Amino acid sequence: MSLLVVGSVALDTVRTPFGMVEDALGGSAVFFAAAASTHTPAYVVGVIGDDFPRDKLAFLEERGVDLSGLVEEVGESFRWAGEYSYDLNSRETLETRLGVFADFKPVIPPAARQCPIVFLGNIHPQLQIDVLNQMDEPRLVAADTMNFWIEGERSALLDLLERVDLLMINDEEARQLAGVPNLLKAARWIQDRGPDHLVVKKGEHGSILFGKNDLFFLPGFPLEDVFDPTGAGDSFAGGFLGYLGSRDHWDEDTFRRAMVYGSVAGSFAVERFSIDRFRTLSREDVAERVRDFKRITTFEVELEHV
Ligand code: AMP
Repeated sequence: MSLLVVGSVALDTVRTPFGMVEDALGGSAVFFAAAASTHTPAYVVGVIGDDFPRDKLAFLEERGVDLSGLVEEVGESFRWAGEYSYDLNSRETLETRLGVFADFKPVIPPAARQCPIVFLGNIHPQLQIDVLNQMDEPRLVAADTMNFWIEGERSALLDLLERVDLLMINDEEARQLAGVPNLLKAARWIQDRGPDHLVVKKGEHGSILFGKNDLFFLPGFPLEDVFDPTGAGDSFAGGFLGYLGSRDHWDEDTFRRAMVYGSVAGSFAVERFSIDRFRTLSREDVAERVRDFKRITTFEVELEHV
């Protein structure tokens, strides 16, 4: 097992202009593991309440995801409800019921401490640090965060950043974290605080990879039918890190390709509610979309004519 993810395992109620689901499988760790499992099975550490319908998780286990680090506690499972606007670009959180997630103290089982890749989903930065303190020298530490922690737990977040190799956040969060409106300056500010790599996601407008000496822009994959954007970011992380986990040698080109696999995973996630699109997703479906991506993003030019 080469990938560890620590994050939420949730029951989501989501309303979009195209329909609604109630208590559907969600949470950062779930979207991450579903997307990563196309490349590399992940090890999930999280918590559910005793009301959680465990049969909803069978699909992940079929895909090789290890759920032995998913603890069941007495109480209510984490529930989140949200509603999307007509163009799906903004959403309102209608409800966040933390339940057993409020007292979540991640314990990494011995078998998972040697995972070379760790994804710290969006939880309290001190808990993210606690996870790292339990790990044996991972090769790559990736993390997500959100405005709530940037505002309220800045000092712990800056301590965490020193130990993160790859931060994956959206453009608004990058600007807020760095306190500068220019994205390139914000990226430099963040990289100066620890992460060698930074991925800035811009929803349907694509994503940017800031490497040590590399800068790479990728558009969002153009889709005619977007159904439910929930979990796109965590699926992006799963596709990205799942791809890295399937490769021994990493250079800047590997990271660029990981961006494509991340973006492809995000694009599949939004085509259905919850993780439903991953249920039927094959490696060939992924490969075909990667090929399409290449076709729409490359061009030839004879430099002497430029
Ligand atoms: P995203 O669309 O990438 O922001 O991810 C949405 C997922 O994050 C949903 O499945 C929610 O269950 C989960 N989620 C929402 N709020 C939180 C929170 N405060 N902490 C952890 N997970 C959350």
